[in-house]
Amino acid sequence: MTNQLPAYSKVFILGAGIAGIGLAIKLKEAGHDDYVVADRGHTVGGTWRDNTYPGASCDVPSQLYSFSFAPNKQWSRSFSPQPEIQSYLESVTNEAGVRDHFYFNTEVTKMRWDEDTHKWLITTSNGETTSSALILASGSLSAPKLPEIEGINDFAGEIWHSAEWNHDFDLAGKRLAVIGTGASAIQIVPEIADQLDHLDVYQRTAPWVIPRHDREYGKAERAALKMIPGLGKLYRSSIRFGRETYVPAFTFAKQLGKPLQAMAERHIAKGLTKPELRKAVQPPFQIGCKRILVSNDWYPALSRQNVDLVTSPITRITKDAIQTADGSTRQVDAIVMCTGFHATDHPVADLIFGRKGLQLAEHWRWHGASAYKGTTVPGFPNLFQITGPNTVLGHTSMIEIIEAQIGYITAALDYMSALDLTSIEPKENLTLAYNHELRLDLGKTIWNTGGCASWYLDDAGRNTTIWPKTAIAYAKQMAKFDAAAYNLTDRNDLTTH
Ligand code: NAP
Repeated sequence: MTNQLPAYSKVFILGAGIAGIGLAIKLKEAGHDDYVVADRGHTVGGTWRDNTYPGASCDVPSQLYSFSFAPNKQWSRSFSPQPEIQSYLESVTNEAGVRDHFYFNTEVTKMRWDEDTHKWLITTSNGETTSSALILASGSLSAPKLPEIEGINDFAGEIWHSAEWNHDFDLAGKRLAVIGTGASAIQIVPEIADQLDHLDVYQRTAPWVIPRHDREYGKAERAALKMIPGLGKLYRSSIRFGRETYVPAFTFAKQLGKPLQAMAERHIAKGLTKPELRKAVQPPFQIGCKRILVSNDWYPALSRQNVDLVTSPITRITKDAIQTADGSTRQVDAIVMCTGFHATDHPVADLIFGRKGLQLAEHWRWHGASAYKGTTVPGFPNLFQITGPNTVLGHTSMIEIIEAQIGYITAALDYMSALDLTSIEPKENLTLAYNHELRLDLGKTIWNTGGCASWYLDDAGRNTTIWPKTAIAYAKQMAKFDAAAYNLTDRNDLTTH
């Protein structure tokens, strides 16, 4: 049963994934008890609740994949499988005692700023509500992207997206097509290939893949991490700082990426024996331009007798087959779209209307998705976004960014309460200056110059996704709420200071 939302809450959080859970815990700790978390799903977890495809696991080391304030001492491996991450997120929510604040099966359909009351008016599938502050914690990889391929609606078999795995479909003895060769596909293909009669993998652009140093933690190691005070913290710090040293190779010292690319080339040579396959998986861009993938079984899976790597572009889908530009037609029973997510077009922005009814999506169509410190947007008072524009990391755990934003937002809400403010809104000139500097920094990086098209770039070619420095640098800029960067309005006269 879905609980009825209260008519008003001081803080409304959209999304019960890692960001929503973390903020809920920290708000409670800070004494902000009047908040709700709404999610269209049936439980917490966000992307880790939804992505249940075979082989789903994290490509960031486990030690970095829990909140720093609630470390998970139970990880079984150095890279955690999805069920363990989901179970961690469930238990951390329960242990913090915040679950009562969550409203599931609640789809938010519209959020409108009301200038008269300085509140957000929020419409959901579970009724209407109002809130003084609106926090978007819905993530940038939550809306599956399906490709527009001619004839796709004529296909008579099953089609599903990797993030919405069809567990009712029995793979045994079937002919399957996987479209895409990104982070999801390279986990799925090795996991399912042996159950199928035949698997066609449709590759548009070959990715760079490096070895995955995954291993099970031994009994003694797990016991030590659990029992010895500070050991887990030390272990985490060593991985964390090690990861930060990758940043120069992506940004100002791209020549440092060469040894990594050489390692990835050796990985191809080791994983594949047939020269034509080795050639077909050779990426046409510099390593790091797209997300670097990690797998030990991707190339061996492509070498299997019952797997074909198809590199000719898809031209059409028919009732029971996929046709490609080289004139081939390959019959299939089902198609799995591993074609990624709406990362740069932020579908949630279609639902948000700020001052003077300005739609966030419309605002961003002109400016490109942008925000002050990736978190707040001029024209949209009391709106905060976690993992907003230019906060994505290519080298380490997003939980570092999420925690930095949670701290900043909590401090902003403290500040508002202390001064009895009704609205805060970042100054436009400072937001423009912040983003101008970001664009300059990004212009030199591998993500913008490495010769690839990726989900980091929007349709106009702007990089509105990546944070181009270390996670530590991001945390530093978020360490204090910088009220001077905001226009403030107080409760008594609703005038701008
Ligand atoms: P993705 O990395 O964006 O890959 C999408 C794939 O689909 C690409 O190979 C793309 O080809 C292909 N594609 C898209 N449209 C196509 C079309 N019309 N025809 C043919 N091919 C098409 O998506 P993803 O694999 O779902 O991963 C997205 C992100 O989610 C990752 O980068 C990562 O951040 C996250 N993720 C993380 C994990 C993890 O930690 N374990 C696992 C999965 C995903 P092009 O390269 O040519 O565009």
